[in-house]
Amino acid sequence: MIVPVTAHAAFEKAAEYFKIKIKRIPVDADYRADAAAARNAVTRNSVVLVGSAPSFPHGMVDPIEELSELAGEKGIGFHTDACLGGFVLPWAEKLGYEVPLFDFRLPGVTSISADTHKYGYAAKGTSVVLYRGPALRRYQYFTSTDWPGGLYFSPTFAGSRPGALSAACWAAMVKTGKNGYLTASRKILETASKIKKGIQEISDLYILGDPLWVIAFGSKTLDIYKVMDYLTSRKWSLNGLHHPSCVHLCVTLRHTQAGVAERFIDDLKAGVDAVRKHPDANSSMAPIYGMAANLPVRSVVGDLLERYIDLLYKI
Ligand SMILES: *Cc1c(COP(=O)(O)O)cnc(C)c1O
Repeated sequence: MIVPVTAHAAFEKAAEYFKIKIKRIPVDADYRADAAAARNAVTRNSVVLVGSAPSFPHGMVDPIEELSELAGEKGIGFHTDACLGGFVLPWAEKLGYEVPLFDFRLPGVTSISADTHKYGYAAKGTSVVLYRGPALRRYQYFTSTDWPGGLYFSPTFAGSRPGALSAACWAAMVKTGKNGYLTASRKILETASKIKKGIQEISDLYILGDPLWVIAFGSKTLDIYKVMDYLTSRKWSLNGLHHPSCVHLCVTLRHTQAGVAERFIDDLKAGVDAVRKHPDANSSMAPIYGMAANLPVRSVVGDLLERYIDLLYKI
């Protein structure tokens, strides 16, 4: 699998589960997958190339057109991970935003994932994968013909699956409807524009790339994780990212309520001011993020995460 470094960790998880070698390709200055690096990475053992629309960390859409053409030329699969963008980008395009092609209009794209439980507004636990044709779908089927329990077949990785979740997902999609998705996307994109503008006006901060609504920002002068800690104290919940150090706000429908974007920017300004004035003040998560980003032995960090999961099971 040839996967941009910014592609979701779920690809690494799949590679580990299925014993597929994963090759990471870098991103360019705009945090979009480096297509030239992808070309260099393809060998005769390559099975699939991946691009995100957009990526979870920085909200940037990879050059899907170039990457999928390369996959087509090499006769391998191309997967567009539109988990985050599948229910926003098509509406953004209709609303006149600049959205690069990322879907089956590109002949090299062979599969697409889109999370109904994100911007599809369904409950957690549903997602869809789309294939270019039924022949590809067959690879996910499992059949057992000699089991004493009878003839067994299963179409998905999970065996028993909750029908109620699918029904609830269907209901959410029908209830939201095309107009609902269009309106939600319009509000999200407009709110995100306000927030981006607000961030750009804060001299100590910079936005990574030029995203539509998943806004990652960092600082060349301040410890951005300390700014995040301040925002946490103001009840904002941002994701801490690393390589490079930054945080992101994934704008959702909730943020589009009156006054929320303004309050976020006010709190962010106050946070930046506080860290500027007291750069050495103690904070809670900042040292942990700093350590996790810089520890040379990555297995130690992995071990810490496993211990954390152990604790979750204990509670
Ligand atoms: C949410 C998401 C996924 C899937 O994440 P899981 O936690 O494995 O369900 C994949 N790609 C992107 C870009 C996502 O945002």
